[in-house]
Amino acid sequence: MSSHQAKKQLGQHFLHDAGIIDRIVRAVDPQPGEHIVEIGPGQGALTIPMLRRHGGLDVIEFDRDLIAGLHDISQRIAPLQIIHADVLTVDLTALAGDGRIRLIGNLPYNISSPILFHALEHADAIIDMHFMLQKEVVDRMAAGPGSKVYGRLSVMLQAYAQVQSLFKVPPGAFRPPPKVDSAVVRVIPRTAQDIAVRDRASFSRVVQAAFGQRRKTLRNALSSVCDVALMESVGIDPGDRAERIDVARFIALGNAVHESLSRV
Ligand code: SAM
Repeated sequence: MSSHQAKKQLGQHFLHDAGIIDRIVRAVDPQPGEHIVEIGPGQGALTIPMLRRHGGLDVIEFDRDLIAGLHDISQRIAPLQIIHADVLTVDLTALAGDGRIRLIGNLPYNISSPILFHALEHADAIIDMHFMLQKEVVDRMAAGPGSKVYGRLSVMLQAYAQVQSLFKVPPGAFRPPPKVDSAVVRVIPRTAQDIAVRDRASFSRVVQAAFGQRRKTLRNALSSVCDVALMESVGIDPGDRAERIDVARFIALGNAVHESLSRV
């Protein structure tokens, strides 16, 4: 397996730093009976220690050249359910069956946001996710108002999940090394009762428009979405900019837009 040529188009950067791998396994802290699913097991850098500790795992790998190696790991160490597929096509709710899964993975960075939002579409079936991502993406995911990197990703994600940035990982922990720093993030989907967004489409429209022109005041950036009175009704100053508005206010505005449209 060491002869495998890393494929750039599949975001293949294989972890080899034992200390980092151990930190990830400890952050996940798998408990007996839990159903753990790994996205992109690759050559098994995380899979093997997780299997040794947990005794069983489902893995979703797209690269057919890595499947034989995963069968070998399954025979040598403990049973793996190997799903040879693009994770974006996998029905995670069906995979969870009657229970809920925990997702882990050192993700292919080129499709990390689509994977996150695909997982959130199956939020009811997911307990939590521990992912390695580009640090710059983790910073945006976890940012709060006032931060330079607070934006659409922060708001869209935090409305549906709690996000915790856990620790930074340098390029040297991977082979081949990526050009950027990485970080491990924990994402815990909110339960349906906990999600205040009443209509996904209205919320998404508000957030997209607000950050689409982040240098403009909200009065201007949101002019095609709602009027000033509606902003003021949820406590938003129309002279403010998107980067200063917290997630709760964006949700309140999305809900107000939805209600005003339902009244028409
Ligand atoms: N977990 C391994 C490690 O830490 O060394 C590999 C991580 S590597 C960054 C990303 C892995 O995701 C690769 O094994 C790659 O083949 C796989 N992958 C890429 N695109 C995928 C997709 N759409 N669905 C499932 N796996 C994918």
